Amino acid sequence: MNSGEFRRRGKEMVDFVADYLDGIEGRQVYPDVEPGYLRPLIPTSAPEEPDMFEDILNDVEKIIMPGAASPACTELETVMMDWLGKMLKLPEAFLAGQVGEGGGVIQGSASEATLMALLAARTKVVRRLQAASPGLTQGAIMEKLVAYSSDQAHSSVERAGLIGSVKLKVIPSDGKFAMRASALQEALERDKAEGLIPFFVVATLGTTSCCSFDNLLEVGPICNEENMWLHIDAAYAGSSFICPEFRHLLNGVEFADSFNFNPHKWLLVNFDCSAMWVKKRTDLIGAFKLDPLYLKHSHQDSGLITDYRHWQLPLGRRFRSLKMWFVFRMYGVKGLQAHIRKHVRLAHEFECLVRQDPRFEICAEVTLGLVCFRLKGSNKLNEDLLERINSTRKIHLVPCHLRDKFVLRFAICSRFVELTHVQRSWEHIRQLTTDLLRAEKD
Ligand code: PLP
Repeated sequence: MNSGEFRRRGKEMVDFVADYLDGIEGRQVYPDVEPGYLRPLIPTSAPEEPDMFEDILNDVEKIIMPGAASPACTELETVMMDWLGKMLKLPEAFLAGQVGEGGGVIQGSASEATLMALLAARTKVVRRLQAASPGLTQGAIMEKLVAYSSDQAHSSVERAGLIGSVKLKVIPSDGKFAMRASALQEALERDKAEGLIPFFVVATLGTTSCCSFDNLLEVGPICNEENMWLHIDAAYAGSSFICPEFRHLLNGVEFADSFNFNPHKWLLVNFDCSAMWVKKRTDLIGAFKLDPLYLKHSHQDSGLITDYRHWQLPLGRRFRSLKMWFVFRMYGVKGLQAHIRKHVRLAHEFECLVRQDPRFEICAEVTLGLVCFRLKGSNKLNEDLLERINSTRKIHLVPCHLRDKFVLRFAICSRFVELTHVQRSWEHIRQLTTDLLRAEKD
């Protein structure tokens, strides 16, 4: 949708809302639809080709309005998470379907998803150990629990450990910045020998620093054998798995208990929208379920409806699945794939440009839309280059440390980015580099 159409549609939306408010007296206060009313009304998967905006808006009146905020809000979310799960080719066990044990929920952020997974895993292991040894107190178990992630995991994982009051141990990643079986196994053996209780592992697909991928096919089976909850954080990279050529990066997801990525990062859905799936919804619900009288309803425990309040920290929730519904239909799967492919192609264009200049080196494999690079030379030199780049305010780069190296990160982000932007950015960086090296000499 270009800006002209956006203006027109935006005005139509204001009219839509104003008409709704004008006619609100004539609408029913409480919906009379039955649980599960929505799923049969919409297709079972996202369209390949874009739909017309008018058709989507007409469907809001036809399909959403009869279910008002609730149950429409809940039911559309469940179906949209199934659509998205199918786009990613997630194993069936993660989908809600009509009677599935798994399912998806929209969280606000990847940090929340990791925290929810950790808290659910914590409750599960405490209950399991207490069932085996009824004398064991929760405190005695909690002080022995250990969670693991690689040294490349996002800081939100460490934060989840802090909030959840469990130790988090960092597994050294390999030469490609990936968590591997041997390093994890070594830590597990050491910790078990000390009487600790390993219970939770976060594997990252697409790390923040350099977009590396933990080795799921190695780590997954260990988690299953050791009865540890495996959570996958694919906050950024997850969107790319809708493309068949990148789907192999998700191989091993079948070993996971929970999986999360942020459509608001790279799938054209506006902030906030963090998609989380679990294989066993009872693991989440069982950990956080409370039912005060003021939240009781007639379908309570009927198994017919999903009570998302048990799947998340807050009680109230926004109608975020509407954003997904609109985006998936307006772009179609093919449009979303084209968006991802274009970004990856542009990242490789930038990589090629960097490789042609012998003053620079590429610091990590370029898999998706991120290029890690640096000037050959000291960290100080690279810090000075970054300072020059960011202070001229034409482009903005965020750095990282890879081992002891200070590294610059070029990330393709915008919906509007074209090859010329990438080329101009590189010319700008080259010019600033030449200036810097000349100044260093003088
Ligand atoms: N995990 C990874 C791999 C990330 O790259 C990020 C953010 O950049 C996060 C987690 C945190 O995401 P959120 O802001 O949704 O909590």
